[in-house]
Amino acid sequence: MSSAPETGNGAHRGPAPPSGAGHLRRAVFVDRDGTLNVDTHYLAGPEKVELYRGVTEGVSLLRSRGFLVVVITNQSGIARGLYTQSAVEAIHARIQELLRRGGTEVDAFYYCPHAPAEGCACRKPGTELFERAARDLGIDLPSSAMIGDRMLDVEAAEKLHLTSIYVPEAGERPHYPEEQLEAAHRASIIAPSFLEGCQRLLERL
Ligand SMILES: [Mg+2]
Ligand SMILES: [Zn+2]
Repeated sequence: MSSAPETGNGAHRGPAPPSGAGHLRRAVFVDRDGTLNVDTHYLAGPEKVELYRGVTEGVSLLRSRGFLVVVITNQSGIARGLYTQSAVEAIHARIQELLRRGGTEVDAFYYCPHAPAEGCACRKPGTELFERAARDLGIDLPSSAMIGDRMLDVEAAEKLHLTSIYVPEAGERPHYPEEQLEAAHRASIIAPSFLEGCQRLLERL
């Protein structure tokens, strides 16, 4: 099984393929679970999708400043048999539906369906999905950024020299407290919410 790029409801409106470096665009790569939507661990159904407050505004803000917004997500639940690729795609369609109610959307979704033990190159902190998106959409990686709630998001960003924005998962009991110090230390920007992460990134430009 190969990892599948997906553009959401057939409504993809990305840029024309680049014809030269001058046409490359900046992107913000965005983690899904724990960053855009509440991480329920192996989210299996679209009816359970709940976007964090401020996510719609943040996505809208990034796109208004000319960034593509590309979701990069590890979905090992597929390899584990917990849900199917079509269930993942239904969740992405639901995320789009919720964002579109607020007048915005994600430009593309890419996911890794493999288990960690498969040793694929597309599971974060692997960089293959970022590189694929860069080719597909004409993205200039050095002027792009990554926002996520896990150390593996920060690590993937480091490998590609992206600006990294670490947004520790909201909530009283984070799922991965042991990572937080390290991720906060290594990230370019730390922010208490997705929206503030987007704002701090734009302030630096
Ligand atoms: Mg996450
Ligand atoms: Zn993979």
